[in-house]
Order: sequence, then C-alpha cells, then structure tokens
Amino acid sequence: MKLIPALIAMTIALSTTFGWITADLAEKSGRNRVYWFCIGLILGPFGLFAILITARKYICRSCHQKVEPLIGLCPSCFNQLEQPRQRIHIPE
Ligand SMILES: [Zn+2]
Repeated sequence: MKLIPALIAMTIALSTTFGWITADLAEKSGRNRVYWFCIGLILGPFGLFAILITARKYICRSCHQKVEPLIGLCPSCFNQLEQPRQRIHIPE
C-alpha cells in the first residue's frame, strides 16, 4: 500500500518539472509564464511540445536573420539577443 503514495508523489514531481521547464521556455519567447506553467503542469510533455512548436521567430538586429528566441544567441553572428518584447515579431 506504499506504492500509491509513491506514484502520486512521482506524478506531482514530474508535472511540476514539466510545468517549470515549459514556463521557462515560454518566458524566454516572451509569453506568459504563469499561463504556460499551468499548461505544462496539466499536459506534461505535451505542454512542453506545444511551447516548442509554437515558438515565435524574431529578426536579429545585427545581421537581420530569422532567429529562434529560445536560443539566446544569434546562430549566425553570435550577437546576444535582446528581450523578446523588444524584438520584431515575424508572422508566419
Ligand atoms: Zn545575428
């Protein structure tokens, strides 16, 4: 009967971990951290997948390449990227 509390504790720990990772990636791409924490908490790996496939792309102000905001550095000129809300959003 000690198996059920252990499974519940493991589920809570995994859900919280997915929530934190999803929230962190959401904040880096300029989205609402609390909202995406809840999505990661409830959906787990599917929430993480959702933030990865819906990541917005921005233009690097130095070399004008399309850049994934989750990286933090421009892959072509290695320029440190600014905060997402200061970048230009490219609709796809
Ligand atoms: Zn660049």
